Amino acid sequence: MSVTNSLDQQWARVRGRLKTEVGETAFRSWLQPITVSEIRGSQVRIVVPTRFLRDWVVAHYADRIRALWAGENPGVESVEVVVAAPSMGAVGPDTGPDSGSGVGDDREPFVSAAPPAIVMASLADSEEPAGVPASLDERDELFAHLDPRFTFENFVVGKPNELAHAAARRVADAQAVTFNPLFLYGGVGLGKTHLMHAIAWAIRRKHPSRRVLYVSAEKFMYQFIRALRFKDTVAFKDQFRSVDVLMIDDVQFISGKDSTQEEFFHTFNALVDQNRQVIISADKSPSDLEGMEERLRSRLGWGLVADIHPTTYELRLGILQAKAETMAVAIPDKVMEFLAYKITSNVRELEGALNRIVAHSELVGRSISLESTQEVLHDLLRANDRRITIDEIQKKVAEHYNIRLADMHSARRARAVARPRQVAMYLSKQLTARSLPEIGRKFGGRDHTTVMHAVRKVDELRSLDPAFAEDVELLRRMLES
Ligand code: ADP
Ligand code: MG
Repeated sequence: MSVTNSLDQQWARVRGRLKTEVGETAFRSWLQPITVSEIRGSQVRIVVPTRFLRDWVVAHYADRIRALWAGENPGVESVEVVVAAPSMGAVGPDTGPDSGSGVGDDREPFVSAAPPAIVMASLADSEEPAGVPASLDERDELFAHLDPRFTFENFVVGKPNELAHAAARRVADAQAVTFNPLFLYGGVGLGKTHLMHAIAWAIRRKHPSRRVLYVSAEKFMYQFIRALRFKDTVAFKDQFRSVDVLMIDDVQFISGKDSTQEEFFHTFNALVDQNRQVIISADKSPSDLEGMEERLRSRLGWGLVADIHPTTYELRLGILQAKAETMAVAIPDKVMEFLAYKITSNVRELEGALNRIVAHSELVGRSISLESTQEVLHDLLRANDRRITIDEIQKKVAEHYNIRLADMHSARRARAVARPRQVAMYLSKQLTARSLPEIGRKFGGRDHTTVMHAVRKVDELRSLDPAFAEDVELLRRMLES
């Protein structure tokens, strides 16, 4: 007993120091959930709720924890980070109808073993009398699969996401249902899942008795098909219809699956009729969801539809700064600006890039510089390179030679327009991945042999006429910059 006590006391002091060192935000994101389990010989074992958190703590904080602990207790030489065993069994692949597991097993399926495992529900809920709040343990189970980093505190707000963020906050804070459903949509990696988890975390803090169910549309579908197979759709329905807040992520995956759509529609209606909050995310707006029944599409658009736009430079920079602070690493401004400028695809890639340069610098023991960043992210930077389009080439070349853009497509053969047109074809071949026939089509439906001829002609002229060669080179550089 006294050993446990002193272990707890040691941990309390280590925690205190960690908190001062890494700051409140990082502490809350990464270190708060840690509990200490035991000490065996010279090894301390600490427990975290998710695999993700374990990897993160191991990568970023384990050394520091060990050092601090050794300061408290010189007997400690190493720290082991383990993932808490789930209290409900993780469900593997299909058990099959005659495995003897019976309906009970099938009705306990929302603890997913595969990452990213953020799908959850407690089926035990549906067996309780209505109105009894979920027990603490149960609630912890519900949240064990939500990403602890995906909170409002960690969400950087900018122009592109301010509406979606405000709507999410409102839903999380509101005493009563305000708009139903909240429909969030936007491209991949722009923060839809983050906002949904943030709503769940906030509700858990503010309204602990509310039942929140977050589920991916894929899981919803999988569950439904399973329930059909085991003729257990009643339980399936009850379970969804007994929640206060239902979130379904990536609903575009439901499209095309008629029976699942039907069930989704009914579940959705039942919840909305009972004034329960529904939150949906998708990669497109309700009206653009192809393969979705018309009545469902229009129903989805009844509440508030909030889109998340592609990131801007300012938002990307803000996100990088926030992440760097969380990770407690110093990164030169120049590097941050470079990343924000170059990695425009989505926030997930941006984060990945930051993680990579931090990991690299820790590994080789060199500080982060612009050069090392370019080196480490070589492949990623190339993939994010701006794609030059044939339209841009035509425009630039027409401007340069002072001809009309229409002459890029026209049939005029006068040298004054034919030569620039050939240059534009040549540059299209050099700077884009388009095939000769594709290029021909963009130049007023010309044949691919015409394009081939233009490429040869320009090559020939370049070798004969240095001034012309320089001109083409200049155009190329302007287009690539
Ligand atoms: P989506 O679900 O839209 O594909 P996610 O919510 O999974 O995107 O976001 C991808 C990653 O980017 C996550 O790690 C998330 O935390 C991060 N992210 C996205 N938007 C923001 C933001 N505004 N502030 C901080 N992190 C963000
Ligand atoms: Mg997502």
